[in-house]
Amino acid sequence: MSLSTEQRQTLRDKLLQRRSQMVDDLRDESISDEGTLAVRSHRGETDDEAVVEAMDAVEIASTARDANELAAIDRALQRLDTPDFGICIDCGAEIETARLMAEPTVLRCTACQQRFEHQHHTPGGARL
Ligand SMILES: [Zn+2]
Repeated sequence: MSLSTEQRQTLRDKLLQRRSQMVDDLRDESISDEGTLAVRSHRGETDDEAVVEAMDAVEIASTARDANELAAIDRALQRLDTPDFGICIDCGAEIETARLMAEPTVLRCTACQQRFEHQHHTPGGARL
């Protein structure tokens, strides 16, 4: 079962809504006047260099995450009109419609996503 026109429209609306929401949220903090993501430094808020570095590191990670999500949204919007949308990039199977409706930026079916996350799990990495 591929996606119906209505389902694609719903997904496009969801993606565009999330995109404008993110841009709104980012505008106040890390989007520069040119529209590119910039990291706001906490230098000047404290004299403690170690604290500045730690705070900036958090900021950089957060900005990178936002940039990644924006990129994922843009990629999903571009794919939406192609036959590739909704097709798992790893195995070529159709991604479950319910999964796509819940998370329009997914690129893999459930099985491949689990395998991908398992493979890319940082060995001995931090556990939250
Ligand atoms: Zn797959």
